[in-house]
Amino acid sequence: NKKIVLRNYVTGFPKESDMELVATGTAPSRVPEGTDGAVLVKNLYLSCDPYMRPRMSKNDGSSYVDGFVIGEPITGYGVGKVVDSSHPGFKAGDYVWGMTGWEEYSLIKNPSKALFTIRHPELPLSYYTGLLGMAGFTAYIGFHEICAPKEGERVFVSAASGAVGQLVGQFAKLMGCYVVGSAGSDEKVRLLREKFGFDEAFNYKKEKDLSLALKRRFPEGIDVYFENVGGAMLDAVLLNMRVRGRIAACGMISQYNLERPDPVHNLTAVVTKRLRIEGFLVSDHYGKYREYEEKAARYVEEGKIAYVEDVAEGLENAPAALIGLFSGRNVGKQVVVIAR
Ligand code: NDP
Repeated sequence: NKKIVLRNYVTGFPKESDMELVATGTAPSRVPEGTDGAVLVKNLYLSCDPYMRPRMSKNDGSSYVDGFVIGEPITGYGVGKVVDSSHPGFKAGDYVWGMTGWEEYSLIKNPSKALFTIRHPELPLSYYTGLLGMAGFTAYIGFHEICAPKEGERVFVSAASGAVGQLVGQFAKLMGCYVVGSAGSDEKVRLLREKFGFDEAFNYKKEKDLSLALKRRFPEGIDVYFENVGGAMLDAVLLNMRVRGRIAACGMISQYNLERPDPVHNLTAVVTKRLRIEGFLVSDHYGKYREYEEKAARYVEEGKIAYVEDVAEGLENAPAALIGLFSGRNVGKQVVVIAR
């Protein structure tokens, strides 16, 4: 049973050498005798997610997520097949997604808290690491509930070609909004315009003045900002929001590797423009996941949503895939295949 374990706590940018591949024992085939309420899962696809970076730091109690344990497998979202079960809610052969380990097989002791059974195994299973799973549901809840958008409003999305961003943009288009996205390469900008149907897109790394870049695309200002990056982009957005605009604070990836977060300079705009900024965690909303799963499955079947994945092959390539999120190496949702 091969695993990726954390070798040391991380400060600054993570490196591949902060993790290592280890092989221990043979592949298990049964839930151990006397372990009630557990499932043994063969992992198929792993999800690389930005929130995994704070889990690599020594947790001083301030983080909302548990830290990884040195010498233990990295944990994260993934898709797998149940090999054996002593839990009444799961049976051998079920496909599942949820919290699992970065290893070939995982014994999951609290599956009803950690796993969802997959109701659409006829769709590509890897989509349950993104569009049909956590990232897609994040985009859906964040956009429809936190942003409270109205038809025709002007929407800006940062990290727009990534797992969450590409879907936020398309949900906004389906609602009849004007949508602009930013991304870190010309290839990603092309994807936003040509594949995901954004009205406008720009490469933020090529813009000298982010506020002017936004002003050119939003001469009348931004109604809704879906925040994925924080830092300088948030400051520029604050200057370009319309009165009573809304900001859904989904994530701030530009800050995750900094020891001292960037200051935000333009918060006064929150007062003068009567803005609402609301943070959210997708994990608070899973009660509505099944409703989303059906809706998203229909979107896929009807071809209403385009979806791009960046697929790394093999558990040994998972560390490079994970750290690639922080330099923008991924184009679309970063997935690691460990078995099909
Ligand atoms: P992505 O697939 O978008 O991958 C991360 C992308 O972030 C990179 O490809 C890169 O794209 C961009 N990026 C990396 N470093 C920086 C930087 N310093 N400045 C600006 N952009 C940067 O990730 P996800 O879609 O999975 O996640 C997007 C955001 O959503 C993250 O902030 C994440 O933490 C958050 N999130 C929050 C959840 C919640 O419950 N609140 C749940 C899931 C995700 P580029 O080339 O464009 O720079």
